[in-house]
Amino acid sequence: MSKIYLTFGINPAGQWQSISETPSGRSNLVCPWCKRALIAKKGRIKTIHFAHDGETCRISQDATLQTQIPTYDTFEMLDTHEARYLERRIKYGSHKKVYSWDGMNEAIDRLEKMGIVSVERTNEAELIDVRARLGKLDGQWLDDLGQPTKALLDLFKALDPLVDLRFHWNRCTRITSTKIDRGYSQNQFDKLQSLSDLDRAQRYWFDAYWRRLAAVAPDYQELLAQKYSALGQQSLYVIHISGEFEGLPPEFIKIGLSTRNANVRLKEILADLRPFGQSIKGKVLAVKEYAGRLERLVHRMLSQDNLPVGTLTEFFTINRLEWLLSELDAVTINEYLPPEGYTGTRETLLKRAGRRKKSSTELLAEYEDVAMLLKAGKGIREASRLSGRSINTVQKVKAAIIAAS
Ligand SMILES: [Zn+2]
Repeated sequence: MSKIYLTFGINPAGQWQSISETPSGRSNLVCPWCKRALIAKKGRIKTIHFAHDGETCRISQDATLQTQIPTYDTFEMLDTHEARYLERRIKYGSHKKVYSWDGMNEAIDRLEKMGIVSVERTNEAELIDVRARLGKLDGQWLDDLGQPTKALLDLFKALDPLVDLRFHWNRCTRITSTKIDRGYSQNQFDKLQSLSDLDRAQRYWFDAYWRRLAAVAPDYQELLAQKYSALGQQSLYVIHISGEFEGLPPEFIKIGLSTRNANVRLKEILADLRPFGQSIKGKVLAVKEYAGRLERLVHRMLSQDNLPVGTLTEFFTINRLEWLLSELDAVTINEYLPPEGYTGTRETLLKRAGRRKKSSTELLAEYEDVAMLLKAGKGIREASRLSGRSINTVQKVKAAIIAAS
């Protein structure tokens, strides 16, 4: 696996803020875990990331590693055994034809817990007895699938040279067949065409990853919940840039994520671009609530249109702008919440998410164009048509005008 870096910090408002919306150098952000100051490293070669001002805390290293979210931070989410099993299972068409190797059965167990594979097993009579006896003991020794829990595995790890639980357990269990979930192939990146496809696929992998972490590293679930929640508060924005540039087209776009007002971002972006040209202007074309988590997927989908601007990323040609705007207008993106069955964490997550609704002032600032049309007496439909904003947005702005007056 490639080196893992910290890409989020906590801003003075207490929100998680991405490295991508933080200027290079000493920042006003702190590490989510140790609260030490962070420095944004945005060099040309290495992946952009945050470094601690001073020593990197231990927990941020572990936590960053354990909470690399597939389809957000990375596109790899399965380990080599899991990936190998799926590849062979698909290639050979049935479980029986897959030659087993050390680690295969455990990989299948994890895939089952993630919901990617369903498994039929036959159990020897002795294992059925063992399960019944375990059920009578105090403690949680078996999970919903009748497999050893972490507590049981840890107990036997402590007894390791004496008893090899895995060996005997597997000897008594035989996988007779497996079936790969339809979502697995449906949600491969190269099959995704639209923003709603991206959203569906990301939810699939977020869910699978959540369940995987619950099985392999439950201590990190709370941190993952925090990160999901942080991502959930990000909007996706599209900003149009025009000007006279050296070696760059006269107009291009920026696609990014932010928890803050897009017009605030716009000013920062224009400042970043100043060294590259003259008469630079910018305009916020779209802001989509909850869609910030799709940023990397959108970037990847548009990778052929990526436009490097010095060391700045996230700029694209206008080739697919029309497509992107119509997609953003048409699709409904809801907040992502982890799957049911983890109520404790889910509750804290919901509480934390504590949905920061945009204030009227923020709405009016963000959609100044719409507000002007409405104040000039245009109807909702007409204001929508003239501004190119969705009806839903125009209605929100109208409500904000009424609230503010
Ligand atoms: Zn730290």
